[in-house]
Amino acid sequence: MNLPDAQRALKQYFGYDRFRPMQAEIITAVYEKRDTLVLMPTGGGKSICFQVPALIMPGTAVVVSPLISLMQDQVMGLMANGVKAAFLNSSQDSQEQQLVENQFFNGELDLLYVSPEKLSSSNFLPLLQRANVALFAIDEAHCVSSWGHDFRPEYTQLRFLKQQFPQTPIIALTATADRITRQDITEQLQLNNAELFISSFDRPNLNLEVRSGQRRKEQIIQFIKQHPDQGGIVYCLSRKATEKLAADLNQAGFTARSYHAGMDARTRAQVQDAFIKDEIPIICATIAFGMGIDKSNVRWVIHFNLPKNLENYYQEIGRAGRDSAPADTLLFYSYQDVMMLTDIITKNESENVEVQLAKLGRMQQYAESMACRRRILLNYFNEDFKDNCGNCDICRNPPQAFDGTLIAQKALSAVYRLREQVGLTLLVDVLRGSARKDLRERGYDQIKTFGAGREVSAFDWNNYLGQLINLGYLDIAYDQFGVLKLTPASKRVLFDQESVELVRPATLQERRVQEKVASKERTKADRSRGELFESLRLLRRKLAQEKGIPPYLIFSDATLEEMAAAKPTSDQEMRAISGVGERKLQLYGDVFMAAILDHLGEKGNANPGSTHRISYELFLQGKSVTEIAEQRAIQPLTVFSHLGACYAAGDPLDIHQFVSTTIINQVEKAIPYLEKPLKLNALFEFFDGKVSHGALRMALSHLQKEGKYPVA
Ligand code: ADP
Ligand code: ZN
Repeated sequence: MNLPDAQRALKQYFGYDRFRPMQAEIITAVYEKRDTLVLMPTGGGKSICFQVPALIMPGTAVVVSPLISLMQDQVMGLMANGVKAAFLNSSQDSQEQQLVENQFFNGELDLLYVSPEKLSSSNFLPLLQRANVALFAIDEAHCVSSWGHDFRPEYTQLRFLKQQFPQTPIIALTATADRITRQDITEQLQLNNAELFISSFDRPNLNLEVRSGQRRKEQIIQFIKQHPDQGGIVYCLSRKATEKLAADLNQAGFTARSYHAGMDARTRAQVQDAFIKDEIPIICATIAFGMGIDKSNVRWVIHFNLPKNLENYYQEIGRAGRDSAPADTLLFYSYQDVMMLTDIITKNESENVEVQLAKLGRMQQYAESMACRRRILLNYFNEDFKDNCGNCDICRNPPQAFDGTLIAQKALSAVYRLREQVGLTLLVDVLRGSARKDLRERGYDQIKTFGAGREVSAFDWNNYLGQLINLGYLDIAYDQFGVLKLTPASKRVLFDQESVELVRPATLQERRVQEKVASKERTKADRSRGELFESLRLLRRKLAQEKGIPPYLIFSDATLEEMAAAKPTSDQEMRAISGVGERKLQLYGDVFMAAILDHLGEKGNANPGSTHRISYELFLQGKSVTEIAEQRAIQPLTVFSHLGACYAAGDPLDIHQFVSTTIINQVEKAIPYLEKPLKLNALFEFFDGKVSHGALRMALSHLQKEGKYPVA
């Protein structure tokens, strides 16, 4: 059985303790050379399903990926974990390609990412036949289907794989679930009795929220203020809107950039790169943005406009919180958006207009729903999800129902008297008795219901009318500029006394309070997440900048959070943190532990209690620092800090065996020039890495003992 191997690879390379649901089964199937089709949501953990087999099977896994940037991201991530991976695509010159091809041929690669063009090219086939291929992985496999939303003709050539390599397993992966696409993938790739794996599409860490789209800009500014130091994406419908919003946000004091297909390729790449590296936290983008990025620490996604369907919506919010740490999503909803999208779909003279309009309808229902959002979403994806989720706006603030018959009567009667000729905005103005000149000109101020709903705010009227539409009491005639029409149900209300139950929208006051509470909770959470998380984050950022790589490639947000909570100070403790594999332990273990030790020292937690004493006693018994570290399974640096703490507290120790007087004096002189609170890593750098962490730790203890360096 391969699973112990798989488990070991997962831990060793990725630092994860257990597989997510289905990953183990999928890996087993691939290992046993069965063809598989894997459906998982964005961020669900698809890559592990072929990366782990690639590590435990002889030969190279050849991965087909449609986007160059995605390939590069994945290969970078794998290399950061110590996996032998490379890619081949048109961004490389022939020499670079030759180099990779040689590695492939010589069996030096665990994974090779290729573009579909490259894979299908006639000059690549001989190499493919001679090399040892463990498996083929087809990422974003929905691209093979002309039904899908990302059809790529190059993908249809991939059928040659099964013909040429009938013995090599194929794993096809996608986040697009519908049946037709599924069928298409199996046929096009000629999969052999493919085993189908559909994982849950639930992403429980995503907070789902929908708000009415009034004063969006102000709401967004408020939202971003509540997410300090966190990066996110605002999706807008038009290019112009992305630019305008980015400008507004910059004006409000944030750092934001726009991104859309109308920008030249270089600028686009720059913006994307800066976002990935946490240099620009906020991107205002059209849906062109995001497909090619793997950034795991996107903490929020806002939809400025309604997406066209729930598939797009789910994919876009799915880009938040891939590291499975909590992430917020916010959708703004307005009828204007529905009308605009209807317009776009109908004018688009595609054959599927009906289907697309129906999908838009489902999107609208979701936005208007008064029931748990996640339930609707997952049921849409054919997943039976019965409980309320507890992580959406509806679950958090369940709507309060009341007898809305009178309100409904007023609205419906106004529609009737306006001869079903007006849209939402005008209707609200009539109900509220607006002084608009054109109302008077059209004689609308003469009808009986003019001003009958004066006591209800325009905000609330919009909300109520939305509910009435949703409940089937009103209909929007999209083909007649969105005027409102009565329905059989509305006639029962008007003429047969049918009663209507509505839900009270939150008052402005309540919404303010809710926001305040949310922001309070957030700052509280931030504070408890605390200083250590913050200094680890800054350390991660500095290291990433030095190496020119995205910070999340060093450690994910989730990993940093776990580190800040568990405060590991030994290799063994560090290994227990999810996301710390062998390679990263080797590369970053020491610096992160040094930062944690600094933090513990400052906090005064390092009172020379038992653990310090044990190290100290062992030392007195004649053991060396290395021996103590090995015996206690802790870092040598931790031993130094134990010894130093005891020494500073007055225990006898010959410190000069660890550090010279010259160095101690230099450290004393250096301290005033370094940022406070002093970090061991900063001191280490000050000495250009020429004096060991241990020696510096001892120098500090000495100065502490002499009262020349404050005990925090
Ligand atoms: P997808 O390709 O399905 O969008 P990824 O493969 O990029 O998703 O995985 C999303 C995130 O989840 C990545 O940060 C990945 O490292 C992490 N992940 C995957 N499998 C596990 C696991 N078994 N335990 C913990 N984290 C995991
Ligand atoms: Zn819910």
